[in-house]
Amino acid sequence: MKFSIKVKFSIFLASLLLLTVYILSFLVLKGIKGNQKEQYEKYLAQQAQTANVYLLQTMLSEAFVDPTEFLSSKGEEFSLKLKVLSNQLVVLYDMNGNVVSKKDAHLNSRAIKETLEYALLNKTAYLTEEEDLYYMAPLKIGAKQVGVVQFHYSLTENKQFYQSIRQLFINIGSIIFLISFILAYIYFNSFANGIILLEQMVGRIRYGDYETKVLRRKDEIGLLSTGIHDMSKQIKKTIADMESEQEKLSLAVDKLSKLDTQQKQFIGNVTHEFKTPLTSIKAYLDLLDMYPDDVDLLNIAKENIKSETIRLYEMVEKVLQLSRLEVYEFELKKEKLNLLELIKSVLNGLEGKLNKFNIKLLTELSESYIYADKDSMIIILMNLMDNAVKYNRDNGMITVKNYRLENEVIIEITDTGIGIPNDLVEMIFEPFYTVDKNRARLNGGVGLGLSLVKKYVTLHGGRISIVYTNETGTMFRIGFPAL
Ligand code: ADP
Repeated sequence: MKFSIKVKFSIFLASLLLLTVYILSFLVLKGIKGNQKEQYEKYLAQQAQTANVYLLQTMLSEAFVDPTEFLSSKGEEFSLKLKVLSNQLVVLYDMNGNVVSKKDAHLNSRAIKETLEYALLNKTAYLTEEEDLYYMAPLKIGAKQVGVVQFHYSLTENKQFYQSIRQLFINIGSIIFLISFILAYIYFNSFANGIILLEQMVGRIRYGDYETKVLRRKDEIGLLSTGIHDMSKQIKKTIADMESEQEKLSLAVDKLSKLDTQQKQFIGNVTHEFKTPLTSIKAYLDLLDMYPDDVDLLNIAKENIKSETIRLYEMVEKVLQLSRLEVYEFELKKEKLNLLELIKSVLNGLEGKLNKFNIKLLTELSESYIYADKDSMIIILMNLMDNAVKYNRDNGMITVKNYRLENEVIIEITDTGIGIPNDLVEMIFEPFYTVDKNRARLNGGVGLGLSLVKKYVTLHGGRISIVYTNETGTMFRIGFPAL
């Protein structure tokens, strides 16, 4: 059974007081007993002395010379006189141990006989049986013992007094125990409540509940509660920090493994994309080795090798740009750019290409400025325009528009091309992703343009989206923070 700390404290204190009362009463009772003994021994010794004096007087007054003779003839009478004098039952014995006075009920007991034998040796002895005390002393004439006188002393009063004192101590002890237990319980209650609250707090902390409170007490328990409260706050903070660190770490690990997969995929794609033009170049070179005099083959091979080489070159350029953006902290030379001028100059450079494919260009340009890196902006516009041409229809049209919308400068490039299947809209920004491999290849595309565009736009704090794409064409929209 588990006792609360207050019960234990109270029992301890009450027991301590009880022990004190017990020791005190033990000593007092022992003192009383000793004192009573001393008193009646002294009293009975006096009685014996009186008996001796009285024996001598009586013998002299009645002209007796022989004490044995006096005791045998006048013993009973003398004992009655002694009884009156001492107010006790008196028995007289001669030197043979025979009773010379009135008979007494106890005279035959063994203990009495033993005591008598002792007294006949000129010694004083007494025997106590319950509440009776038989005191035997030598009867003497001068130094000579002539018999034994026995007083029957009652211990009833002594015992009653002793018992009443003992009972008093028992009562006082019980009352003290009860009162001290109650008082101690009340006194320790507030301490114990504090300790119980602390124990509960610690129990909760053990199971991860760190909500603790400070006990408003100006003692060690109060200080301890403040300590536990602070400690629990600290543990809570440390665990939260650890959890957030763990979260960051697992995010970083995720990101790293994602990057790793992306990188592997990227390298795989690069190798694959490089292999196709190289295979084609090698095939033409092999054919030329076999038919060195075939002029037609030579011309076709020249054309193909040229176009594949250009493709390879462009691919290497873009791959380099992309990996630079990916790996290094790319340094942008940002400046205030006149967007109108920039768009115009890019469009001018594309005039020949537009004419070649018979594509009409419409513009709705307005003066606007952004804070950006000029080369990056050219790459963005060139790639989007290039796609608008590449994936357009015959006699198609491209519209380029710029305007300001709230805090953004918007550029929209709309074509009347083949459009992008809606479910692939997200994918086209991934490196090497092309909707139609053959068409991209025919147009010299490798699927790197849009991923480059997205990277550059993001680096400028901008965003890119496809406003619509269907069989009538596609509208790309990019937005940059306005100056
Ligand atoms: P590519 O070098 O193949 O043009 P991009 O990354 O620029 O690579 O584009 C990825 C793919 O997105 C293209 O292969 C093409 O299928 C599709 N795409 C891009 N722009 C357009 C457009 N304006 N109209 C239709 N499809 C487009």
